[in-house]
Amino acid sequence: VRQFFVGGNTKMQVTFNSLNDIIENLNKADLDDKTEKVLAVPSIYLSEAKNRLNPSIAVSAQNVYGKNTGAFTGEIAPTQLKDFDIKWTLTGHSERRHIFKENDDDVAMRTKGALNEQLNVIFCIGEKLEERESGKTKEVVQHQLNSLNKDISKEEWSKIVIAYEPVWAIGTGKVATPEIAQEAHKDIRQWLTTNLGQDAADSVRVIYGGSVSHTNCGDLAKQPDIDGFLVGGASVKPEFVHIINANQ
Ligand code: 13P
Repeated sequence: VRQFFVGGNTKMQVTFNSLNDIIENLNKADLDDKTEKVLAVPSIYLSEAKNRLNPSIAVSAQNVYGKNTGAFTGEIAPTQLKDFDIKWTLTGHSERRHIFKENDDDVAMRTKGALNEQLNVIFCIGEKLEERESGKTKEVVQHQLNSLNKDISKEEWSKIVIAYEPVWAIGTGKVATPEIAQEAHKDIRQWLTTNLGQDAADSVRVIYGGSVSHTNCGDLAKQPDIDGFLVGGASVKPEFVHIINANQ
């Protein structure tokens, strides 16, 4: 069985002080110990978060570069994350793809670089509204998965959590219905079976992101192919505790 997984992605929406309040709130909360928990913070706060957060919650970067050294101004290397004992990173978040124009190959390169250093990766995928409306959801998502799969081994998928985040649901308050989310997750599970085999399909977590809140997390968590959440806006609010505990 797949361990339920809840990640918080604070994006650029915290200050030093507000992040410390979030950490204090999480540290004193009663959190489901059967759920794996990760909090992704801006890189400048990684070390502080690592030092202060209860170790039952892992700290994650929000992106990483694919190389370990070189003239890459503004980027962070996988080995630099390891220097601070950071074991997780996101890659391919929709804001990286669409605001910062990282294409499927860029995202694959970053993800491969992280895996080369044994980091765990929350690999984010998902379609835009016009892609869904023109019936291209499956094609877009599979292209995102194939772009990574061509660069990595079957074994490396064990270090990956797939975050399905439809772009139209991110930060919009328009959460995917449990049925729509389940259908997309089932298609991703089918892709895993076809391309990596039954064992990978049974063990790789596929989590949902996009306007997850304390009011909708319960019904989403009940879907058979939804193995957890990647939470944006609600991760910087007290309700994040309720979402972490959604699988109880
Ligand atoms: P929201 O939860 O704010 O919609 O953001 C989702 C997200 O992008 C998490 O990575």
